[in-house]
Amino acid sequence: MKIIVCIKQVPDTTNVKINPETNTLIREGVESIINPFDMYAIEEGIRIKEKHGGEVIALSMGPPQVEQALKEAVSLGVDDVYLLSDRAFAGADTLATAYTIAAGIRLLKGADIILMGKQAIDGDTGQVGPGVAENLGIPHITDIRKIESIDDSGHIIVERLLEDGYVRIKAKIPVILTVVKEINEPRLPSLKGKIKAKNKEVNVLTNKELDIDMDRLGLTGSPTQVIKIFTPPKPSGGKILKGETKEVVAELLSELVHAGIPVGKKE
Ligand SMILES: Cc1cc2nc3c(=O)[nH]c(=O)nc-3n(C[C@H](O)[C@H](O)[C@H](O)COP(=O)(O)OP(=O)(O)OC[C@H]3O[C@@H](n4cnc5c(N)ncnc54)[C@H](O)[C@@H]3O)c2cc1C
Repeated sequence: MKIIVCIKQVPDTTNVKINPETNTLIREGVESIINPFDMYAIEEGIRIKEKHGGEVIALSMGPPQVEQALKEAVSLGVDDVYLLSDRAFAGADTLATAYTIAAGIRLLKGADIILMGKQAIDGDTGQVGPGVAENLGIPHITDIRKIESIDDSGHIIVERLLEDGYVRIKAKIPVILTVVKEINEPRLPSLKGKIKAKNKEVNVLTNKELDIDMDRLGLTGSPTQVIKIFTPPKPSGGKILKGETKEVVAELLSELVHAGIPVGKKE
């Protein structure tokens, strides 16, 4: 079984600050970590390998400092690591990111299972997994909370988390799965893993190695335009109603009527 886990290095905060002039993330003074959801993807990849044999590869796209995140993946048990890094990839929106990652996966001759996090805690779109699947022409299933089985006929059965339950899905591999935190409990790095990580060479891939259309990379290949990024103003005013439910509802209705909002029974 060949497993590729896509990991993104993100700022160690969900309180992302934006430079209002350049509309880009302010990264200074903020430590970088592996996107928390990707830690679950790494763990799941290692568990599949432990059960079915094979290898786990971690793949990331980003600047050279992402090597640090990939080495951390090695310390956890990942076998090999690849970094897509080139100035031509910079400024990519999710469309260009998915295109580039898919080209990287193609160069690695694909995988049986490609694991990703359900979303990155900075970009937060959850679009990269489905986008990579589209580029590769393979199925994807998002929000996976459990891999139930992988059989010899090349089928996988998973549980996909829903708001009020879950759905069981059978798919043919190769498949892309994006995972939620309910899927497992990520392990800590072992001493052996840490030593292996220290000596591990990260394989860096640039646009020259990839069979890629330069017009679909980075800023040039990113049709998404950021018109404005701003921190929403803190809500002012407001009132918290306290007391017995009946009294609170009566007070709320009276406040709504007072504010000119029509209330009444729905016909
Ligand atoms: C409107 C818009 C404009 C943007 N403009 C810019 C810009 O000008 N410059 C810029 O640098 N960024 C920009 N970004 C951010 C950039 O698009 C995202 O960092 C990137 O496309 C990943 O999207 P995401 O963070 O939403 O990932 P998600 O889709 O939420 O991530 C899901 C999963 O995909 C995988 N994944 C995501 N990104 C990577 C990666 N890089 N390597 C490996 N795996 C990955 C991980 O497994 C992750 O858990 C922009 C984003 C948006 C929404």
